[in-house]
Amino acid sequence: MIKRPLCAWALALVMMRMACGQSSPATQKVQEPVLPYYPSLDLSSMDKTADACVNFYQYSCGGWKKNNPIPADQTSWSVYGKLYQDNLNFLRAILEQAAADSPQRDTVTREIGDFYAACLDEAAVEKRGIAPIQGELDAILNLKSAQELAPLIARLQLVHGRGILFSGGSTQDPDNSEQVIAELDQGGLGLPDRDYYTKEDEKSKQTRAKYLEHVQKMFEILGANRETANKDAATVMGIETELARASMTRVDRRDPYKLKHKMKVEDLIGLAPKFDWKAYYREAQYPGFEVLNVNTPDFFKETNTLLASEPLDNWKTYLRFHVVDAASPYLSSKFVDENFEFYRKYLRGVKEQQPRWKRCVSYTDHNLDDALGQAYVAKVFSAALKESTLDMVRRIENAMAIRIQKLDWMSPQTKEQALLKLHGIRNKIGYPDKWRDYSSIKLARDDFAGNIQRTAVFESHRQISKIGKPVDHGEWQIPPPTVDAYYDAQMNDINFPAGVLQPPLYDGKMDDAPNYGDTGGTIGHELTHGFDDEGSQYDAKGNLRNWWTKEDREKFEARTKCVEGQYGGYIVVDDIHINSKLTLGEDVADLGGEILAYLAWKDATKDKDLKPIDGLTPEQRFFIGFAQWACSNERPEDLRVRAATDPHSPAEYRINGVVVNMPEFEKAFGCKTGQAMTKPAERVCKVW
Ligand SMILES: [Zn+2]
Repeated sequence: MIKRPLCAWALALVMMRMACGQSSPATQKVQEPVLPYYPSLDLSSMDKTADACVNFYQYSCGGWKKNNPIPADQTSWSVYGKLYQDNLNFLRAILEQAAADSPQRDTVTREIGDFYAACLDEAAVEKRGIAPIQGELDAILNLKSAQELAPLIARLQLVHGRGILFSGGSTQDPDNSEQVIAELDQGGLGLPDRDYYTKEDEKSKQTRAKYLEHVQKMFEILGANRETANKDAATVMGIETELARASMTRVDRRDPYKLKHKMKVEDLIGLAPKFDWKAYYREAQYPGFEVLNVNTPDFFKETNTLLASEPLDNWKTYLRFHVVDAASPYLSSKFVDENFEFYRKYLRGVKEQQPRWKRCVSYTDHNLDDALGQAYVAKVFSAALKESTLDMVRRIENAMAIRIQKLDWMSPQTKEQALLKLHGIRNKIGYPDKWRDYSSIKLARDDFAGNIQRTAVFESHRQISKIGKPVDHGEWQIPPPTVDAYYDAQMNDINFPAGVLQPPLYDGKMDDAPNYGDTGGTIGHELTHGFDDEGSQYDAKGNLRNWWTKEDREKFEARTKCVEGQYGGYIVVDDIHINSKLTLGEDVADLGGEILAYLAWKDATKDKDLKPIDGLTPEQRFFIGFAQWACSNERPEDLRVRAATDPHSPAEYRINGVVVNMPEFEKAFGCKTGQAMTKPAERVCKVW
């Protein structure tokens, strides 16, 4: 439930609560399932008036930026985002066909078709109004004592799949990655990060005031008068602020040792005795277990204090808000609209709600991922594509092995362990070998919110039922159409879904140079995550175990400090700098990944006579191909949210921050000493 991809390539995968609202008619003509083609190196995306040695990102992406303004319904616009939107269109065509209520449909087609049809049926959604959560709201109002909170919270967490008060679920044992154990984590906030509650700058204060208005409006929609709603909003804010103060920061959460607190259930009861843990686990149908990991004990200590000090009525108020806020995208339009107004319009700067079909495709993709994924890969992903990707992966792994052997700062002892880890990485390409079976879920054509709830409960139980069992190495954490990739340190695997292996990212029609620059760099990036400041603390089996000598670790940390210092100097928006302690793992992976891709490309083409194409040398094409994955336009509001929550640096620095550390780039473009995209040799950052 709360297992997260440790290092996703593009965006934070934890979905911001999606917003909904008015929609376009569902009867609009549906296009045939064909994906548009964009080459992996596009001359029209470049800005040749810019100097590559002064601002390489502008040189490679200036044309793209000009030609691709942010659509009104998007938080930002990028090559990745655009490709995902193309995927949504493609999936829409599949779903429109699947939704036709025909008796010939097979099980999977019926599942995705009925789920999608129910989502599109706005009249039915409108008619049900608040009914889908009425039972939960009544149960909250009927609470008789604080003792009854635990089983109720267990039920609410199962349905809403998000941390109502906190998060519970399963995880791999940090000391024995083959075993799945129970886990508890902080949660319970409505704003995207704890810092929103604790910072005292003007913008943070304004955001809190806006959030209070949003909470108040939600209570008014539920039927409260203005005065009561205002008071209730303050109650919610009061509880959340205390929870936020007790929450661990994102930077601290990058240290896996700070999240490791294995204990017995009795210890947990000792930590937070006011909460009836036994009733909680019974109600959520956990299998019996001895040991669990509590990521954030301080958070649960504070929750215990709050349980003792806050009157029961305040808890009822808090829970009522979180239930309605979590469910609002799936309820009638007044809830959907208010959700959009705050979370997408105010917080992220989006101008318009996404059409309903788009949201419905996304919900199907997220809630029935393996079912829709099957239909998707059958149309887009070939065995040949899988083979050519695996070939590239092997070449990049070879480059990494050679690179490790040649490192001048690492002892043979640590090198041996690093190589063991590298050879232990599992490569997962395209889609899972085994598809999940959803046939036990009741999916109704006339009950969208019910379908969302039942699929969420199914997923919650699936995660819980893993406890005590060996880990399933075949499992994926993102659906096949996702335009993203990730490395998982506990699984020690890299995962490339079909959605990310298509033009303009991976382009069978293009020469090797841009493909290695782009997809090769992404593969290298994911591999390097196994060896960044966080991933390097796990061993070949995915256990949290130090395999470094003390001296090597110190040298490694001095090298990552170079990267941290460089990125900390970049501005995200206004006066906000990159929090380079948060982005360090991604920045190290970006640099390492591109170096590996370059070496692998050189090796793959060593017997070929490469010639310039379109006036660009092969080396230049490699780097432009690299830069063009990142072309994007951003809204300032969205950049602010990402500065606080996204472990990735903004696109521009994911390119310029890398090439400035690669002498190969300087040479490819004939840059002169002192130009912005160069550094004196002694200041170049080099980790892997
Ligand atoms: Zn990454």
